[in-house]
Amino acid sequence: MIKNNPFDSALSQLKIAASKIDLDPNFLKILSEPERIIELKIPFKKDDGKFELVSGYRVQHNNLLGPYKGGLRYSKGVDDNEVKALAFWMMIKNAVVDLPFGGGKGGLQIDPKTLSQNELERLTREFAKKLSFNIGPKIDVPAPDMNTNPQIMDWFENEYAKVTGDKSKAVVTGKSLQNGGSEGRTEATGLGGFFVLEEFLKKMNMQKPLTVAVQGFGNVGSNFALQLWKNGYKIVAVSDLAGGIYNSSGEGFNVPLVKECKEQKGLFANCYCIGTVCDLADKKKGNITNEQLLELPVDILIPAATESVITKDNADKIQAKVVFEMANGPTTPEADEILNKKAVIVVPDVLANSGGVTVSYFEWLQNMNNQHWDLEKVNSSLKEKITKAFLDIWDIHVSQKVDLRTAAFILALKRLQQKNF
Ligand code: NAD
Repeated sequence: MIKNNPFDSALSQLKIAASKIDLDPNFLKILSEPERIIELKIPFKKDDGKFELVSGYRVQHNNLLGPYKGGLRYSKGVDDNEVKALAFWMMIKNAVVDLPFGGGKGGLQIDPKTLSQNELERLTREFAKKLSFNIGPKIDVPAPDMNTNPQIMDWFENEYAKVTGDKSKAVVTGKSLQNGGSEGRTEATGLGGFFVLEEFLKKMNMQKPLTVAVQGFGNVGSNFALQLWKNGYKIVAVSDLAGGIYNSSGEGFNVPLVKECKEQKGLFANCYCIGTVCDLADKKKGNITNEQLLELPVDILIPAATESVITKDNADKIQAKVVFEMANGPTTPEADEILNKKAVIVVPDVLANSGGVTVSYFEWLQNMNNQHWDLEKVNSSLKEKITKAFLDIWDIHVSQKVDLRTAAFILALKRLQQKNF
C-alpha cells in the first residue's frame, strides 16, 4: 500500500478552505510552503560506546502570528513530510485558538523504546545543542508530542541554557512542574477536547449515555478517556499500537482500572476491566485490532494515535456518528469526503486537540512574566479560550454551510490574512 503523504493532505485541506473565501493566490502560495526546514544528522553515543546517526527535523512553517510553536515527536515514522504537515497544522491550530504563535514542529526518527534512559538523555541533549541557535522564547518554542514528555523537555531546556547562556524557561513548554512547567499541562489536550465535545453535543442535541471508542492510549488518548469516563460516557473500546479491547455489550470499561492494569501488564489484552474487576476470561472475546476499532458501531470514534488512519479504504466502513480527532491528521481528504457524504460529522484536530498548545501558551506566558497560575486559573482559561474557538467555528459552519474542518480553516485563514503584509 502506498503511504499517504500527510503534507499533501494538509495542502488539500488548505485549498478547499481558501476556495471558499477567495483567498489571494499569492497569500495561498506563502501559506503552502514552510519558511524553513532544518534537517539534521545527530551523532550520539550508545551505552556500548558505539556511535549512531539519527535523523532530526525542525520545520518552521510560518510566524505571521508570533514565534513558531509546536511539539517534538520521537518515532520511527518521523520524516520530512510528516513534520512539514504537523508544522502546517500547528499554524492553523494556533490561529484557530487565537494564540500569538506561528506553526512549527520537529522530531527524531527513532523509536525511543529501543534506548536506555541515558541514551535518550544524550540524544535529546545533542538534538537540543544542534537546534539551540534556531529556537528561543521569541523565535521558536518546542513542546512534547508523541513519545516525548516533561523529562525530555527539561533536558532540552537545560541544554539550550548551557549552549546559549539564556536561562529563560520559556524556550520550551510541557516541562515538569519543578522546572517551570504549568499546572494542568499534561492533562490539557484531553481536557480541552472534553470541553469542545460537550459544546458540540449540545449543538447536536446528542444526549448521554453515548458509546465511545478511543484509538491510542498515550498522553492524549488516556487523559481524554479518563475525562469522558468521569463524565458518564461509555468507553467501550480502547487500543494502543499492539491492539485493543472491546466490550460489545455497550457497558463501558472502568477506565482508571484499565489504565492501571495496562501499566502493570503492558497489554490491553489482559485488562478487560468492567466494574471493579479485570476479567481475563473475557479477554479473547474482546480483543480487537486497531483496524477493527475504527469500524465499531459506536456513537463517537476518537482517533488519538497518529495520522492517516481513516482513509478512502476504510471510511465507508466507519459506523460512528461522530469522528472526534484528538490525533493530528487522522483523516485523509478522500476519507473526509466519504464521511461527509455518509453524514458522519468530523470534529477536526485543529480544534479538538488544541487544548495542549493552549496550556503551552499559558506556560510560556507564566515563564515570560515570572508567574505561577493555579490549576483552577489554567483550566478555566482553557475552557474559555477553546469554547470561544468552537463557537466561532460553529458560526462559520452554519453561516457558510461548510463542514467543521473547512470552517476552522476559514477562521484561521482570516486571522492570518489580517497579519499579512
Ligand atoms: P503518546 O506517545 O503519549 O501516545 C501515543 C499512543 O498511540 C500510544 O498509546 C501508542 O501505543 C499509540 N499508537 C501509536 N501509533 C499507533 C498506531 N499506528 N495505531 C494505534 N495506536 C498507535 O502520544 P500523544 O502525545 O498522546 O499523541 C497522540 C496524538 O495526539 C498525536 O497525533 C499527537 O500529534 C497528538 N497531539 C498531542 C498533543 C500533546 O499535548 N501530547 C497535543 C495535540 C495533539
